[in-house]
Amino acid sequence: MRAVAVRPGKKDSVHLAELPMPRIDEIADGRGVLVKVLRIGVDATDREINDALYGNAPPGYDFLVLGHESFGRVEAVGPQVTNVKPGDYVTCTVRRPGSSIFDHIGRSDITSEEVYYERGINLLHGFLTEYYVDHCQFVVRMPVGLKHLHVLAEPMSCAAKAVQQAYEAQRRLQVWEPKVAFVTGAGQIGLLATLILRLRGLQVYTIARTAKPCHKGEIAEGFGATYVSTRETPLKELARRVGKPDLIIEATGSSAVAFEAMEILGHNGVVVWTGITGGKRVIEVPADQINLSWVLGNKLLVGSVNANFRHFEMGIADLALGEMTYPGVIEKILTHPVHGLENYREMMRLLVEDQSALKVFMTVAEG
Ligand code: BGC
Ligand code: ZN
Repeated sequence: MRAVAVRPGKKDSVHLAELPMPRIDEIADGRGVLVKVLRIGVDATDREINDALYGNAPPGYDFLVLGHESFGRVEAVGPQVTNVKPGDYVTCTVRRPGSSIFDHIGRSDITSEEVYYERGINLLHGFLTEYYVDHCQFVVRMPVGLKHLHVLAEPMSCAAKAVQQAYEAQRRLQVWEPKVAFVTGAGQIGLLATLILRLRGLQVYTIARTAKPCHKGEIAEGFGATYVSTRETPLKELARRVGKPDLIIEATGSSAVAFEAMEILGHNGVVVWTGITGGKRVIEVPADQINLSWVLGNKLLVGSVNANFRHFEMGIADLALGEMTYPGVIEKILTHPVHGLENYREMMRLLVEDQSALKVFMTVAEG
């Protein structure tokens, strides 16, 4: 069976590899699920893995199969599987447990170990191939009515976790009723976080570089948020105009913006960093000022990565509510399809070069 892979450590090594067809009995105790891959989304993580910034092959291999945003259909299940059945549409979690206490309680998304195992990212093959097998505890059912949103389930799970982490962390305040949120970045995570916060009734400003009118801006405004281009209104200027936000979800992938966000947060507020920056950028920050305002304002910074089964369920529920509330808007994120595994070069080209490619995804099979 064909798979799209890279040679970790070697720049721009994306190629077609061969994998044996997986068998359902590779998973013990009759809990295996065999999934036919239909669509796989790619994001900045895949780009940075192909740039050799991170990513490792599974032991015994010199290549790593890409693809962590999966959508497929169940072909067969082991005798002990009850959560999905053949014919169901499914997605799959990305991280697999290591051995910390968090991994043992189903929270591998907050593992305390340095080494993490992620399908398509680190030490485990991904889903950008024809079929995969996994344990049923990682396979998440997608309602048939959300079939058209396919690969967004995984990024949505990360956005759902990021927002949920903010609310969990803010329990420290005994009462927290956020009114205004800034979402920095209008890529898939920024837009999906915008949706989640709008569904919770917040007034949301979605902030990115691109000037209006633009596709991202239309999507953010389709969710009832206000889209702001930093070319017209820099972040600090916006905070002066509309007030300091109670919550900031940072999703630009720029460490400079991540630190700038710390300068404009309101008292008792929380910033959630979701961007992963593979580079080595060094910048100057007004450290005294941030230190002072953060202590005097009891402010909080939370990092959030990955998502577990429960976050996938939360994300999928919000996709359903989002579709009912803002019909037809979410699918506008899915901008750039590529057809067939053999077109992996075109997939990478769009991901690297095309500024208008909000979301690149590959159709591996119809269905
Ligand atoms: C993935 C997450 C993953 C993170 C770090 C993101 O692109 O969506 O599932 O945990 O990268 O590898
Ligand atoms: Zn990702």
